[in-house]
Amino acid sequence: MAQDDRIIAPGGTIGIVGGGQLGRMTALAAASLGYRCHIFCPENDSPAAQVAAEATVAPYEDTGALDRFAASVDVVTYEFENLPTPSFARMGALVPVRPHWRCLETTQDRVTEKDFVNAQGIPTAPYRAVDGPQALARALEELGRPAILKTTRLGYDGKGQVAIRDGDDPAEAWERMGGGAGILEGFVAFEREISAIVARGIDGTMANFDIVWNEHRDHILAATHAPAPIPAAQAREAMEISRRLAEALDLVGLLAVEMFVAPGGRLLVNELAARPHNSGHWTIDACVSSQFEQLVRAVAGLPLGDPGRHSDAVMENLLGDAIDAWPALLAEPGTKLHLYGKAQARPGRKMGHATRLYPLDSTIA
Ligand code: AMP
Repeated sequence: MAQDDRIIAPGGTIGIVGGGQLGRMTALAAASLGYRCHIFCPENDSPAAQVAAEATVAPYEDTGALDRFAASVDVVTYEFENLPTPSFARMGALVPVRPHWRCLETTQDRVTEKDFVNAQGIPTAPYRAVDGPQALARALEELGRPAILKTTRLGYDGKGQVAIRDGDDPAEAWERMGGGAGILEGFVAFEREISAIVARGIDGTMANFDIVWNEHRDHILAATHAPAPIPAAQAREAMEISRRLAEALDLVGLLAVEMFVAPGGRLLVNELAARPHNSGHWTIDACVSSQFEQLVRAVAGLPLGDPGRHSDAVMENLLGDAIDAWPALLAEPGTKLHLYGKAQARPGRKMGHATRLYPLDSTIA
């Protein structure tokens, strides 16, 4: 797909679709480079709008509002995947959309995404698309148990996922997932979960951050350790996978690739995100250029920054009431606190994060 190679100099306006913490941190990085941001999202007083020059509050399907938004910015990017692609195609006629909306089309459906990854010769967990309880029962025969049933779309942080073990009834699992289109994945007894984040500029230049180890609790990212305590060759392989995928997508922006380290050390791709990623928040405090700065540079058509790590880091997500620890976190030497400006601390809601910094190469086990 051809990318428009327009360059947006500092002083220009970056449109961000989505108003969450990823948009907030992108807008802050954009401001540091002299850009203005305009946020488009359906919620009032969103975390991103609180720190941006302008905000449009309208549904993602409101074509009139989208047209006005696209006409008022120099480039559009997005911080969230579950968006209607026709809305982006429409904006793409008016202004560059980076990454291209076709990247979203590939990554917002788990089946399309895994088909794409496998087509690049990169392995994933075994999977089958399933459209009902009968198809699920057949897929379970083929893949065996345990297995994980997921919705193909609109799933994140473990929402819409059901583990199926020996004795579980497929029809009941289908009900619990909530119906619709599904994907059954073979269960990976992974050694570790890691992720690679790569930035790619309009000229195809790429810059990787160091590979990190991600710890999940209840399917939600709890902590990221940078760098991942893995052999150097495995880290290189993970970076190479992210670069091949970014290139195949002809992506301009950021690509986050979540991977399982399967028994024996084989890397299996779990999920892609063509946007900033929670497992890259550590880069704000521990790298020369953060993932958010790289995104701004890439979508503006500027040269990418230096992704080099100057400190080791452990990023902890502050979910729900964990935010109440802010006074203690503020007092901790070597810790940087980031709060997202969300009024209500619902259980599991990402309210902020804390990054603990350590001397370089001190955290590798
Ligand atoms: P996902 O929404 O696909 O990122 O899944 C959330 C989390 O569920 C992952 O980070 C893993 O911890 C776990 N998980 C997802 N898929 C699998 C799988 N096929 N095998 C084992 N664990 C999985």
